[in-house]
Amino acid sequence: MKLTTPRGIRDIPPDEYEAMLEIFDAFREKCRLYGFRLMEPATIEKFEVLALKSGEEIEKEIYAFRDKANRRLGLRFDLTVGLTRYVVSNPQLQKPVKLAAYSVQWRYDEPQRGRYRSFYSWDIEIYGGEQILSAAETIIFTDDLLSSLGLKNYSTKISDRRLVERVLREVFHIDDPLPIMRILDKWGKKDEDELVKLMIELGVSEEIARDIIHTFFYSQEVPESEEKNELSQLLDILRDAGVDSAEIDLSIVRGLDYYDGIVFEVRPSNETLALVGGGNYSALVKTFGGNFNAFGAAGGVERLLMYINRESIDTRRIYIIPIGGATPRDALLVAKKLRGLGIPTDYPLTTRGLSKTIKYAEKQGYRYVLFLGPQELREGIYTLKDLATGEQDKYSIEELAEILTQ
Ligand code: AMP
Repeated sequence: MKLTTPRGIRDIPPDEYEAMLEIFDAFREKCRLYGFRLMEPATIEKFEVLALKSGEEIEKEIYAFRDKANRRLGLRFDLTVGLTRYVVSNPQLQKPVKLAAYSVQWRYDEPQRGRYRSFYSWDIEIYGGEQILSAAETIIFTDDLLSSLGLKNYSTKISDRRLVERVLREVFHIDDPLPIMRILDKWGKKDEDELVKLMIELGVSEEIARDIIHTFFYSQEVPESEEKNELSQLLDILRDAGVDSAEIDLSIVRGLDYYDGIVFEVRPSNETLALVGGGNYSALVKTFGGNFNAFGAAGGVERLLMYINRESIDTRRIYIIPIGGATPRDALLVAKKLRGLGIPTDYPLTTRGLSKTIKYAEKQGYRYVLFLGPQELREGIYTLKDLATGEQDKYSIEELAEILTQ
């Protein structure tokens, strides 16, 4: 038997997981500041709930299965569907309601750099707010979160699916714009000629296909319309609020079928990989039987980690090294005292020579080692060595607590 994980599913090792936890901490703090209440939507949904908007087709893209009683189920592919089902099925919730979640989800995506079959995301949703205000609040939150995590050089691209749809219908006379929009969403993943080919397969002439691409990806020149005005209004609000990364980009159409208004994506500059995606989806709410607006955003956590500096190791940690006859059992008791004072401390669980033990502590990322010999035990004064600078000095437990918990 090969001890490997299923395709596209992986272990998240401690360093990376600690960095992820830092992102979640920052996210929780922003939720508190902006008034989003956190919850955990169901991990498994009835297949029919997951398929409500996109239809049976969705089965190919998700983990779908039958339980032992032959019920059709699926692992959630995002957090939005579950949160929306929750809000629609709890009409007593007073709107606008602002909800948030951060958790794992599963998609039967083709694994590649930054694309897994199980991944974490953070997610915020506003139910029952006006579209432009909800869009502004969501995008301001997103920009605040990303910049506070140290992300640099990114753009927040805003667009409107209704505008893209209108241009396809009115300028290019396409009766059914949705399949074309799905092709436009593949920009960056497929090259221009491939997109043209896909459009030709749908019955569009090559000339029009090239014109469509020119309009959305190069000139961005579209006729005046209500949606275009709304986008300019939104951009004004965002600029006033200091979201310098914001720009209108009509090539953003978003892949998921449930968006029906303003949409946005955050991408590292000069890249097509999305760090965050979001938009308006009142049509999804309608399919679920509700009648209120909905706007939200979700960001992939593994992807974010590819672009921010991670510094997750707690550099104050101490590793105790018993010397001159002191035993791990003595170390255990000193560790208990230090831990009680709030200092992360560890000690050897196997007996090894001095240099090997120091090497181990270094490799594990401990900043300090504390030498524990019979004299130290008698006097309660310990030698602390800073592995980063090589300096060492003697301290009592109380002094250690004072300098290491500052
Ligand atoms: P979406 O719901 O498709 O907008 O996805 C939300 C965010 O999750 C995207 O902006 C990505 O950052 C991230 N994401 C989507 N699919 C994957 C995947 N297969 N693996 C890792 N991250 C993903």
